[in-house]
Amino acid sequence: MSYTTEELHKIDQEYYLPTFKRYPLAFKKGKGSRLWDMEGNEYIDALAGIAVNNIGHGHPKLVKAIADQAQNLIHISNFYVSEPQMVLAKKLSELSGLKRVFFGNSGAEAVEGAIKIARKYASKNGRGGTIINMKNAFHGRTMATIAATGKKAMMNGFDPIPEGFCHVPFNEIDLVKEKVNQDVAGIMLEPIQGEGGIIPAEAEFLKKLRAFCDQENIALIFDEVQCGIGRTGKMFAFEYYGVEPDIMTLAKGLGGGVPIGAVLASEKVGGAIDWGDHGTTFGGNPLVCAAALATLEVIEEEGLLEKTIANGQWFREQVMKATADYPEIEGIRGEGLMLGVVLSVESKPIVATMMKHKVLANATAGNIVRIVPPLNISKDDLQVVLDVLFQSIKENRK
Ligand code: PLP
Repeated sequence: MSYTTEELHKIDQEYYLPTFKRYPLAFKKGKGSRLWDMEGNEYIDALAGIAVNNIGHGHPKLVKAIADQAQNLIHISNFYVSEPQMVLAKKLSELSGLKRVFFGNSGAEAVEGAIKIARKYASKNGRGGTIINMKNAFHGRTMATIAATGKKAMMNGFDPIPEGFCHVPFNEIDLVKEKVNQDVAGIMLEPIQGEGGIIPAEAEFLKKLRAFCDQENIALIFDEVQCGIGRTGKMFAFEYYGVEPDIMTLAKGLGGGVPIGAVLASEKVGGAIDWGDHGTTFGGNPLVCAAALATLEVIEEEGLLEKTIANGQWFREQVMKATADYPEIEGIRGEGLMLGVVLSVESKPIVATMMKHKVLANATAGNIVRIVPPLNISKDDLQVVLDVLFQSIKENRK
């Protein structure tokens, strides 16, 4: 197989469902925080497959774990247990303090699981199943998760949309309280909103939510699909706040690039799930769990949490220092290497110019350049990301 980028894009246009507005690129190989396209051009990856490749591309430990596991056993169904699935379940439970674990294949599926657990717990307590979500959230593209996300543009044409979701402004505790009644099963939010523009929750808001959910006996659900697994410099973003959820979703960074999602729940809330309530064919098969275990081990062994905090702090400082020369930069948000550079101008053209300079980043929420590189990216590569960001801002001046 040796197609050119152009040939691949022609096939895309002819055969693929036209859901993605793709950049005119096709990649063939990756190593660490570098990618190479079909023609051999080298890129620095500050996107990491949208906050997925947390230990970079082609990490030898991850590659070996996948190859070794594939030699032995790829899939067996959930009629049986396997060593990778059980060891991973125990590890995530110990890391998070949430006792019960269930594996699926994606972030959206993890969120679906979270909704089901919260509703089952509520129904056992004689409550309804409404989930309160935040405005500007993102929870996925399945039917229930577009309803949970609540964006009109994502729901258009897909009626009937599942019921039982309502939305309140982020960080407004009084407006949450106003919505809660016997119909409400839980409150779901991203501790740091990702697609919405890297917007962290306020600590007071999360603390008050925790107390309120305890008082009402409803589930507090944290969607850590994007901000979990070391992305913020803590294994889970909730650690920044000292507020533990009843249910938490993970995906993206968990498998180092293989598709795996997880929903975790406390014994109290997760215990509402009975035999036969939920299931999956692929979820948590030995192959993806071996990959996830290797990913977690690399994060621990290579001190990537500490590195992420230090590099994130350094990156923020460099951006803030540059505001005098680049008045387009209004600030920078986020934690660790989940960063959003806030611009006074549209971010899409700037990200397109960065790509021309061989740095991959992402434009989100209109004016945000999202920087979510591998957690083991070098300082030198981060410096190039910064230089190219500044250069691209300059080149887009009218
Ligand atoms: N939840 C959050 C916070 C996300 O950022 C995403 C994806 O961007 C999802 C859920 C959905 O994950 P997936 O695309 O794996 O279904």
